Amino acid sequence: MKDNQHQVLFEKAKKVIPGGVHSPVRSFKGLNESPIFMKSGKGAYLTDVTEQKYIDFCMSFGPLILGHLDSDVFSNVKEIFEKVWTFGTAEPYSLELAEYIVEKINFIEKIRFVSSGTEAVMTAIRLARGYKNRDKIIKFNGCYHGHVDQMLIKAGSGLAGTAESSSSGVPKGVSDDTLILELGDIDAVKECIDDHKGQIAAIIIEPLPANNGLLPQQKSFLESLRKVTKENDILLIFDEVISGFRVSFGGMAEILGITPDIVTYGKIIGGGMPVGAIGSSSEIMDQLAPVGNVYQAGTLSANPLAMVAGLATLKKLTKDNYQILNKYSSMIVDIFSKWLKEFNNGQFKSLEIKNYNSLFWISPDNSLSRACDLPENLNDLFKELFSTLVAKGIYLSPNAYEVGFVSLAHDENVIKDLEEKLWK
Ligand code: PMP
Repeated sequence: MKDNQHQVLFEKAKKVIPGGVHSPVRSFKGLNESPIFMKSGKGAYLTDVTEQKYIDFCMSFGPLILGHLDSDVFSNVKEIFEKVWTFGTAEPYSLELAEYIVEKINFIEKIRFVSSGTEAVMTAIRLARGYKNRDKIIKFNGCYHGHVDQMLIKAGSGLAGTAESSSSGVPKGVSDDTLILELGDIDAVKECIDDHKGQIAAIIIEPLPANNGLLPQQKSFLESLRKVTKENDILLIFDEVISGFRVSFGGMAEILGITPDIVTYGKIIGGGMPVGAIGSSSEIMDQLAPVGNVYQAGTLSANPLAMVAGLATLKKLTKDNYQILNKYSSMIVDIFSKWLKEFNNGQFKSLEIKNYNSLFWISPDNSLSRACDLPENLNDLFKELFSTLVAKGIYLSPNAYEVGFVSLAHDENVIKDLEEKLWK
């Protein structure tokens, strides 16, 4: 794994790029390794700069639900690529994608496209604040909502709802307006609302928390959140940047039968091109400029390549394909579970595998459902496993807190290959 070529590139990269990577989750920092430099992807596989091939379970952290270089997405993108790269004007491509989504997801009347999940969340929060004319937002410990100032918040010392920033450079005035609570505790939510009567614009949650391991919540907790927000005239924002179009076409909102006031998407909705989206009722969405007074803009928003890639991807996400995807996923999870228990006389038997449709997480304890209960040394446990898998040609996200992603390209042949690779 400590291939010289990767190290040479890493040393060069560190000279011109902070930490040698453009997003911290790409670094192997928690593993004390240099990252593997990949050069291409096809189907369920990645190839690195030394020509080593890996089964990819990172899948660019989620967008590639069809796998790398899906042929239908490819031909659609190729066609538009030969016509235009960006307009900065009104155009029909985003209209087609918007109409497709509005028709299929019943609580979305209008949608706006941006260029990342972070931008989508940033806009959703501004929109909620502008609409309600209030400043405070409740978020949950362990849910990640992109690197928006107000969302880079960790629990403060003891008192429910107090918060401090988890990043330098976030002004105190900004973190003061984010109230942070533990997942699953509806009484804490009610208490926090009572303590800040008339000041809370919205509650934001990943309805399937998947950024601090995979921490599915009780349906009753999410239903209570919906009830309590309605009773107190607070908006409920579902951040479905990971779960949207992944766990089902309509994301967790569809699975749970819970309608949020605002939803944020990213990843799959752009088919692997940079994208984000905010969806809601017409009344709320029309608060955005140029109709309303909540400003939001973007030079490359609704980039035509992303719009076309997104539409081609969503069109392939039929009910049958979700069934196939989830079948591949549970086959993969079964193989990993057995291997974790038995490999090398039970070297990894303390680890379990948690699965929700096409997401999985190698976990220290499947009963955990709150970020505050996760062990702090998870990367120490994960390090050995990660290096073993990489040596076998299997690539997971290089961080114990990240989930694994299965795509439609992880078919029976890939699953057979996985089994062989694991046991060889
Ligand atoms: N929200 C959630 C739930 C996410 O998982 C992520 C990214 N993993 C984001 C927001 C931010 O998206 P992006 O990285 O595209 O800015």
